[in-house]
Amino acid sequence: MKMPIEKVTLTVKFKVDLTDVDESAISEICRLFEEYKEIMNELLSLAVDRYITSFVELYHAKYHELRQRYPTLPSHYVVNACRHAASIYKSLVERRRLGMCERDRRPTFKGRAIWLDSHLFRLDAEGWRASIAVHGGRWITLRLLHGKYHNKFKGMEHGEARLVLRDDGLYLNVSFSQTVVLPEPDADARVVAVDVNENVIVYGNDDFVERIETNEGIIRTRYFLKRRRIQSKIRGRELQRRLLAKYRGRERNRIREVYYRAAKEIIGRAKEAGAAVIVMEDLKIHGRDMGSEELNGRIHRWSYRRFQRILEYQAKLNGLNVVYVDPAYTSKTCPTCGNRLDLSPNGRRLVRCQRCELEEDRDVVAVKNLTLRYYEEHVSAKTT
Ligand SMILES: [Zn+2]
Repeated sequence: MKMPIEKVTLTVKFKVDLTDVDESAISEICRLFEEYKEIMNELLSLAVDRYITSFVELYHAKYHELRQRYPTLPSHYVVNACRHAASIYKSLVERRRLGMCERDRRPTFKGRAIWLDSHLFRLDAEGWRASIAVHGGRWITLRLLHGKYHNKFKGMEHGEARLVLRDDGLYLNVSFSQTVVLPEPDADARVVAVDVNENVIVYGNDDFVERIETNEGIIRTRYFLKRRRIQSKIRGRELQRRLLAKYRGRERNRIREVYYRAAKEIIGRAKEAGAAVIVMEDLKIHGRDMGSEELNGRIHRWSYRRFQRILEYQAKLNGLNVVYVDPAYTSKTCPTCGNRLDLSPNGRRLVRCQRCELEEDRDVVAVKNLTLRYYEEHVSAKTT
């Protein structure tokens, strides 16, 4: 049987050992950060003024001029800055469309990160050293601090990197890729379906159903109220902006942590149950994506997709395949007889089937239907 092969990419963080680095190398790095920041901010303001979200367009508009103005800077810094700026602006446009940030907000780049491609950095994984291209075609070599954790990446293929400046030092984040062999998603595969709601993730199949309380909606509401308080109580504009950014960052980290924990639990349980495939809702079909729904629903959808990406990636690293199915009516159809379900008078989250008298939790129904849908839709589509 043919097994699907995929490449999974993961980012590994290294702290740069600055103890033995001489003054001139430090000032070269500072100059890189300075010039990259200037270039990024010019690119961003052009992107905003002309509404450019595409790298190619931004590159054509600005590359040659920037090359002339920074003649000793290796050219790929400008290329990468075009990609970097386009991606920042693109995500800002998307968040704006979702009502997640103010309409008139202009992006500014604080100059904390530089995108590096293979022309700008080389990695010697044996000695954990990285060489970075600097002005005038020279290279400087940096020693990377590493521990046991890093050694498992030695044999892996590496891709791009980011040079990141933080309060506690300089970091190099390198992306490594691993080729994984995944089980074929066919009719014989055992699956675990995952349904995500605002405060709970439900997963399972016909044999078992488990719930993870994420309380994501509650966390979001709490941070929302905190930000409101800051906006009304703190007068200084700069202080207000800083506090808002701080709490936004905390909220993001908090939710990411919840997602990673949930993904780990689901994968562990799926492997225990002998599952080979994780089934999730395809959010892009049936116009359930975005549209005119209320703000809360849209924010939930946005973060749902983030969770899906985390789970997909962790699942594949753990040898599980991932399949997305059409979610239409999965919470409204009886998993036993296919009849339409009604709300039950016996409980807020209960639904019931008039025909076969099934009475079940809404989330359990969704998980069972997603499982069914995998076998119906995905497998039959493959064999015909
Ligand atoms: Zn029924």
